[in-house]
Amino acid sequence: MKAAFFREHGGPDKIEYGDLPDPSPGPGQVRVRIRAAAYNHLDIFVRKGIPGIPVTLPHVMGSDGAGVVDAVGPGVTRVSPGDEVVLNPGISCGSCEFCLKGEHSMCVDFHLLGEHVAGTFAELVVAPEINACPKPASLTWEEAAAFPLTFLTAWRMLVTKARARPGESLLIVGIGGGVAVAALQIARLMGLDVWVTSGSADKLSRAKALGAGTGIDHSAADFSREVRKLTGKRGVDMVLDSVGKATWKQSIASLAKGGRLLTCGATTGPDPQEDIARIFWNQLSIHGSTMGTHGEFAEMLRMFRDGRLRPVVDAVFPLSQAREAACKLEEKRQFGKIVLRLD
Ligand SMILES: [Zn+2]
Repeated sequence: MKAAFFREHGGPDKIEYGDLPDPSPGPGQVRVRIRAAAYNHLDIFVRKGIPGIPVTLPHVMGSDGAGVVDAVGPGVTRVSPGDEVVLNPGISCGSCEFCLKGEHSMCVDFHLLGEHVAGTFAELVVAPEINACPKPASLTWEEAAAFPLTFLTAWRMLVTKARARPGESLLIVGIGGGVAVAALQIARLMGLDVWVTSGSADKLSRAKALGAGTGIDHSAADFSREVRKLTGKRGVDMVLDSVGKATWKQSIASLAKGGRLLTCGATTGPDPQEDIARIFWNQLSIHGSTMGTHGEFAEMLRMFRDGRLRPVVDAVFPLSQAREAACKLEEKRQFGKIVLRLD
């Protein structure tokens, strides 16, 4: 099969496009002929090498993908060859105490397609049958590949963890990345008052076109001052910060009393300066979140199926240009998802 992979860790120059052996589906697994896949920041981290997460080389990248089931392993009952599917990238054991509670992304063996195991940047990928869900018919292949990881992450954060209610305010720090744009779309669906920050006027105007009410240019000054000024010193109910070290303190300072800080990543680093006094005095909560459960994936999928959600695709590259696509993501030039197409 053709695939985009790396043989050693490093920069985008390590990405190769070429032939690898076809994978075979094991018990309970399906093999999917991928029609489209999508990049996430995770793909960059995995390629650079994440301490404690060894990968077998050569490693096929990619957590997001959609395609047609091409073969099934022993014991598979829910899915048949020919089914059009979108893959939930989160793989859990199904039998640990957290899986038994339905908390699949807390599984002791939780891992993602393209992270610990071969991913979707290939003509063929294998995954557990429970991870293969019907593709929403209204979406193109490119759109179907564009939503799983980011929308699942944003869905769990806003719906399950933050328990957001209509009318509440949400500040999304650094609009443009996949999770941030997904959160903006879901938040509007939930009736939230959405605020966004960016250093790019173009990204702020695109966010407003998607329903953001307030855009703050964070390139010049501390955005928390602007938030406090515009809210009469109150602050916002929730802040979604997946930027990490560079913005964490400003995010804490942007929250109203009783506010919730939501985090699912730290692209600028995991060790920010902390403001503990503000956390206890203002009675803030910090909600960490990773991916989501199979149930949350199914809930989120319904919104795509009935047309209420449609992912934003920034650009589509052929799989053979996976390296060029990675460069666009790493330069943070995108708004929405960077998709790879397989012909
Ligand atoms: Zn488990």
